[in-house]
Amino acid sequence: MRSDPDRLQFQIAARDGAARTGRLQLAHGAVETPAFIPLATRGSVRSLAASEVAGLGYELVLGNTFHLMLSPGPQRVAALGGLHRFMGWERPIITDSGGFQVFTLAHGRVADEIKGRRGRQPGRGTVLEIGEQGVRFRSYLDGSEQFLGPEESMAVQAALGADIALAFDECTPYHADRDYTARSMERTHRWLDRCLAWHDRQGPRRQAVFGIVQGGVHEDLRRAAAERVSAAAVDGVAIGGTLGRDKEEMRGVIGMTAPHLDGAAPRHLLGIGEPDDLVDGIALGVDLFDCAVPTRLARHGMALAPLPATRFRFDIRRAEFAADERPLVEGCPCPACAAHSRAYVHFLSRAEELTGVRLLVLHNLTYLERLVRGAREAIQRERFGDYRQAVLNGTPPWQGAALTPSGP
Ligand SMILES: [Zn+2]
Repeated sequence: MRSDPDRLQFQIAARDGAARTGRLQLAHGAVETPAFIPLATRGSVRSLAASEVAGLGYELVLGNTFHLMLSPGPQRVAALGGLHRFMGWERPIITDSGGFQVFTLAHGRVADEIKGRRGRQPGRGTVLEIGEQGVRFRSYLDGSEQFLGPEESMAVQAALGADIALAFDECTPYHADRDYTARSMERTHRWLDRCLAWHDRQGPRRQAVFGIVQGGVHEDLRRAAAERVSAAAVDGVAIGGTLGRDKEEMRGVIGMTAPHLDGAAPRHLLGIGEPDDLVDGIALGVDLFDCAVPTRLARHGMALAPLPATRFRFDIRRAEFAADERPLVEGCPCPACAAHSRAYVHFLSRAEELTGVRLLVLHNLTYLERLVRGAREAIQRERFGDYRQAVLNGTPPWQGAALTPSGP
C-alpha cells in the first residue's frame, strides 16, 4: 500500500467482528463506509439526474471506462471538464478499468457459462486478440477496431478524472481451469505494475488507484493475489473475478481473500450487491460494493423488498397489485413509496411508462442506501450480527438497526 493523503484517506471508526465502518476521504469528498455504489455506466444512473442520486444519500457512483471510451470518448469528456462536470455530479466517482467488459466479450458472462450459454452474445462486439499488451476488439457501436491494455485503461480513467481508478485486469471465466486462472492472475499482476508505472508518470495527482485481486475459486491463488496486490503501491484493493457459482461459494471466496488483505486499506467487492450479499460481505470486512441489480431490476418491473424467500424482490406487474393501495414496501422512506400506490406503479410498469422505471429505481436505490446505512449504525453499536440476521430474516433495513435480537 502507499499512503498519500491527497489521494485517499481511510479512517476506520468502529469494528464489530470483521465488519468495520469508516470514512473514505477522496479528492471530491467523503464517503461513509460500508457503502453501496450505484452504477453510472454511461455517465448517468439509469433514469435519474445526478442531483436525485445525491438526494438519495449516495456519495459515490461508478462510471464505466469501456462504454465511455467508445462514446462519447475520453477526449470529449476531458474537453468538457471531466466526468464530474459532464454528468453534473460533484461527489466522488470511481471508474472500472474496462477489463470486465472486454473479457466478457471474449469469455461470455458467468451466468451464461453456468446456464451453458458459452461465448459472446450477438451484437455485443468481438474480441480479436488477447495478448500480453492487452485486448484488441471491435466496438459494438460502429465495428471500429479498438485496443485496451493497462496504459490505455489508465489514460482513459485519467481523462475522465475519476477519484478512484481501477487497475486493468483479466476477469477469468468460471470454466477456466486452475492452470489458466493462475497464468491469468500472474498477467493481471504484471498489468498492475504497468498501471502503477503509468499512473506514477502521468496520472492525475489526486487520483487513487485500486489493484484487483483475482484467483478464481482457488484458495492458494486468492491468497497469493491478496498478498501481491496489498504489497503493491495501491491505495485500496478490489476483489474481482469469478466468485463461484452460488452465494455459498462466493462467501467462501471472500472469506479466503479478505484475511490476507491490508487491514488498513479500503476493500471493494466488484459487481455484487443483493441485500443478503451486502450484509454477508460487510460481515467479512468489505467496505464498498457496486452492482447493477437495483437499476436492472427496476427496468424489469421488480421492487426490492424484505422478502428473503423470493430473493428480496417482487414483480409489481403481477395482477394481484392492480388495485393495491399500499406503497411498494410499508414504511419505506423513498419518494415512490411516500407518494404512490402499488396500483399506480403496477399500472405504469405494465404500460412501460418511463415514470414506472424511475419510481422503481428511486425505491430500489433507497432500499440499498438504507440497508448499508443501517449496517454502519449497527457496527457502531456493536450490533451488526443482530442486524445482519434481522435483514436475512426479512426485517426492513430501516427497522433493523433498532432491533433487539430476533433469534434464528
Ligand atoms: Zn420505497
